[in-house]
Amino acid sequence: MQQRNVITDVLVIGGGTAGFGAAVAAGRQGLDVTLLEATSKIGGVMAFCPGMPWGGGYPVDEIIGGLIEELTNRLSTMKPPAAEKRPCALANFGPEIIYDHDIATLTMFEMLEEAGVKVRLGSIAITPKVVDGRIAAVSCCDRNGPFSVTPKIVIDCSGDGDISAKSGVPFSLGDASGNMMAVTISFHMTGVNWAEAFSESDPYYTRYAEKGVAEGRLHPDLSKLYLMRGFHSGTVFCNSVHVRGVDGTDPSAVGAATQKGRRRCYQLAQFLRSDVPGFANAHMSMLSPTVGVRETRKLHGIYRVTGQDLIRATKFPDGIVACDNPIDDVMRSDGDMTHEAAIGTGQYYTIPFRSLLPQNISNLMFAGRILSADSVAFASVRGMPQCMAMGQATGTAAGLALRAGQSVQDIHIDTLIQDLTAQGVNRLAQ
Ligand SMILES: Cc1cc2nc3c(=O)[nH]c(=O)nc-3n(C[C@H](O)[C@H](O)[C@H](O)COP(=O)(O)OP(=O)(O)OC[C@H]3O[C@@H](n4cnc5c(N)ncnc54)[C@H](O)[C@@H]3O)c2cc1C
Repeated sequence: MQQRNVITDVLVIGGGTAGFGAAVAAGRQGLDVTLLEATSKIGGVMAFCPGMPWGGGYPVDEIIGGLIEELTNRLSTMKPPAAEKRPCALANFGPEIIYDHDIATLTMFEMLEEAGVKVRLGSIAITPKVVDGRIAAVSCCDRNGPFSVTPKIVIDCSGDGDISAKSGVPFSLGDASGNMMAVTISFHMTGVNWAEAFSESDPYYTRYAEKGVAEGRLHPDLSKLYLMRGFHSGTVFCNSVHVRGVDGTDPSAVGAATQKGRRRCYQLAQFLRSDVPGFANAHMSMLSPTVGVRETRKLHGIYRVTGQDLIRATKFPDGIVACDNPIDDVMRSDGDMTHEAAIGTGQYYTIPFRSLLPQNISNLMFAGRILSADSVAFASVRGMPQCMAMGQATGTAAGLALRAGQSVQDIHIDTLIQDLTAQGVNRLAQ
């Protein structure tokens, strides 16, 4: 049985792209790192929506660098290659990285192993014990029952921020009215005739979708289908089935949305076969094991990134990653899917390290989609490459804080930026 009283330098909660970045970066500094992942797989949204492209990795067509570049290079130089850069079919998005899902998640796990990270799958962080403004311990649980972790530093990469919220970090849910973006369940169609299917120039296949909705064969929220070439020839990734009004922090709501979404996916797969050229001999595969949740808590950090910061293309002195993603908003309340450009052509902004730091807990950082941002900025900053880079920054900062015996709020920012630059992260303050 795994250890029940774990003492560790760094506890990373959540093994999505942010947790991967945090744990690898901390492990590479020789720290003892424990990564808890509630499910049986590394990847977070990558695991929940297999094949979801890494978007936003190339602001103004230059890769952001760091771990996402390393991972992409590792995959794309395999024989045969397991990743490649492709243009995105949607307006205002830069190039994406498309990859083989299984090889990518295997490789990420290997990178965690190589960094010496102790990965505990099927393990959930439940309750923090806060003493004198720091997290002294975290009660956790796996199938064998409770266990505790006594960390020097906690990095919350859980997407939902349960531990940060229970530690007293203020947060907001969704937008100013509490509306969160829709959750999504994805699948692939395998055996598609690409030449026929992609003779359609509209990435949303609107004329087909509208017919299916009008005839009552597709749910009204399927009036835009987003169909894109999968990594492997003859596969199509269907990122189309969105379920509105789901609170991703409520497991029963997530379970119900998953089943509702699966029914819509099956309905859509049948429709594609019967109505859309190229799909007649295709079948559904890689249906999400659970819905992908875009948005729940946004923690309130020392700095809150705003829509205005994006419009101004702000480059913060403590910027830890570049970004030029559009405002990628998906069906909040009764809203539509939109991806308006956030900033002018050829511009980018950076995400400040202070948006990953709470005011009140001296040994806690957070990374990924729970960063401190308003709902407009959130819709842009949340790409997986950016989440991985946020993780990388916090993992690196953990090393600085522990070596200097400082709180995470007191680390020397110039040193952090120098370290990240030395790790290959591009376009940070000099
Ligand atoms: C449907 C959908 C489509 C998207 N499309 C794209 C796209 O095309 N390109 C792109 O780049 N980005 C896309 N995004 C955004 C991007 O995927 C997310 O913002 C990003 O993956 C968030 O990463 P994360 O590591 O912060 O959180 P997550 O990926 O949500 O991972 C959090 C992890 O923490 C674990 N966890 C949670 N609580 C606990 C706990 N208490 N204890 C232990 N483990 C815990 C979860 O199981 C999960 O594995 C999309 C998101 C969704 C949902």
